Amino acid sequence: MALDLSLVIPVYNEEESLPRLLAEIHAALDPTGLAYEVICVDDGSRDQSFAVLRQMAAEDPALVVLSFRRNFGQTAAMQAGIDAARGDAVALLDADLQNDPADIPMMLGKLAEGYDMVAGWRADRKDAFINRRLPSILANRIISRVTRVHLHDYGCTLKVMRREVAQELRLYGEMHRFIPAIASWAGARILEVKVNHRARQFGTSKYGIGRTLRVVLDLIVVRFMQSYLVKPMQVFGLMGLVTGFVGTLMCLWLALQKIITGASIGDRPLLLLGVLLIVVGVQLVCTGLVADLLGRTYHEAQGKRPYHIRTRIEGPGTRAGAAVGEAAEQG
Ligand code: UDP
Ligand code: MG
Repeated sequence: MALDLSLVIPVYNEEESLPRLLAEIHAALDPTGLAYEVICVDDGSRDQSFAVLRQMAAEDPALVVLSFRRNFGQTAAMQAGIDAARGDAVALLDADLQNDPADIPMMLGKLAEGYDMVAGWRADRKDAFINRRLPSILANRIISRVTRVHLHDYGCTLKVMRREVAQELRLYGEMHRFIPAIASWAGARILEVKVNHRARQFGTSKYGIGRTLRVVLDLIVVRFMQSYLVKPMQVFGLMGLVTGFVGTLMCLWLALQKIITGASIGDRPLLLLGVLLIVVGVQLVCTGLVADLLGRTYHEAQGKRPYHIRTRIEGPGTRAGAAVGEAAEQG
């Protein structure tokens, strides 16, 4: 059966929130008449979350439950849900009732207008200021500058996107907050809309201030992947050529002095620098070559292409077009 929408929900110790969450989802989506599934990924919860989910799945045909063997983290849970998604659109949201499922139909509407991803912006965020909102404001500024994808709120889980866009994401570490950036580099059209945000009612937040640092580390990785992965030789090779060239010039200059004036060059600091630059230059070019090979392996191993196709149109004369035509005539 073709599904219109898959909701992907990472769940870690959210036993009290789950029944309300499912009720809210049905209240928001049933009136739209969409065919949808709710994929809850239990990320190794230590409370009764899985038991609650199993019980609800027995009565709710829309609910799909995946359960991790241990806690692999929110990003891994999202990736697992995306891998399992069958709907034409994928919506991501938190299990803790902080996101409002009632925003989803509006976001789907924006998707139908031609956007590939609609990201939520918690304009009126209901979290503590000092340890949650302040670091988040700083992190948003940094991410926005470094990734050059300008959004107000990267931390909001609530997002709706086309399934192809979702499945092209490869998420590791704490990377779920870079989803818009990664998608945008692949050419996705992204829109940010203000969404409702509510204070956490049950359970506790799974993150503290320590997350900020890990996000910064992942930012470096993401940034590296963005700029250098497809062309490491261009980056390292260029640096290597420039350093090597400058070093060679210095050594040549010293050699000329030695030959013409017979000056002693053994005690010249320039000699040391010149030799150093040549060695570093060679190293950089070699690093570029190795990185290039690694980049190729990475792309080939994942079947990744260096491009992303938005649409494909075929004329009626081509074979695929003819097959469709025949099927239409028979039907
Ligand atoms: N979560 C998860 N695995 C983890 C940590 C969190 O699946 O290791 C889920 C959690 O259940 C919630 C979502 O990720 O649905 C966001 O977590 P939380 O609400 O604690 O983050 P905050 O909203 O405070 O940033
Ligand atoms: Mg939360």
